[in-house]
Amino acid sequence: MMRVTILGSGTNLHPTRAAAGYLVRTDQTLLFDFGPRTLTNLLKTGVDRHAITHILFSHFHADHCSDFLTFFFDAQIVTKYQGGTRGPLTVIGPHGTERLFRTLFETLPGFTEPRFAVRFKEVSDRPFKIGDTTIRPRTVTHSPDLHCLGYRVEYGGKAVAYSGDSEYCENLVRLCGDADAAILDCSYPANRPGPVHLHAGQCGQVAREAAATRLILSHFYPLAERYDVTAQAAEEFGGRITKASDLMTIRL
Ligand SMILES: [Zn+2]
Ligand SMILES: [Zn+2]
Repeated sequence: MMRVTILGSGTNLHPTRAAAGYLVRTDQTLLFDFGPRTLTNLLKTGVDRHAITHILFSHFHADHCSDFLTFFFDAQIVTKYQGGTRGPLTVIGPHGTERLFRTLFETLPGFTEPRFAVRFKEVSDRPFKIGDTTIRPRTVTHSPDLHCLGYRVEYGGKAVAYSGDSEYCENLVRLCGDADAAILDCSYPANRPGPVHLHAGQCGQVAREAAATRLILSHFYPLAERYDVTAQAAEEFGGRITKASDLMTIRL
């Protein structure tokens, strides 16, 4: 069985939701994105944060990565002064991951002497395995000059796709092809679309074109709260639609 817990369904600044973060439990405990306030929600799940072996980033806008700083600094303190232990950590992400993290680990106080092995891995559109879990990253279209990945996770005959941040694009439809669940960037309501993200109607369109079983709407800008985004997506997609909330768990 695969379990996906939504650690954050909002964006950078949102009055009630944490920003992007998804805990995926298969034979592994994986974290996809680590935006502001998601670390606090991770603690609420009861999952041991030191048991996370891999963190996979879609891209490095702050709403997807800023809690990594808090997470890593805490891990350093816990292992140095509080008798804690943890195994290696692998950080996976798009082009630019190595340069960004090498800079951090060369310059940020508290990061320059990691107390456990830390590896960085840049990925693009090739699948790879972590244990028995298959990860299929796919480049999606988001901001110009920024490599952004969506991720598809396959385990035990089930597949979940996570868009990262994306506009409507062919690769996003491919990423979600026949997925049991597609978790999509629903920044905007359909009647108030904006740049570099999907709106609710496009989320429905992607789910329909991909023949996904279930659509999970997430990554809401505060503007999206003022409209019925589920109904807007349902005009395009006849399958089950869920509006994400923080700490919701989806079992596949
Ligand atoms: Zn972004
Ligand atoms: Zn975002």
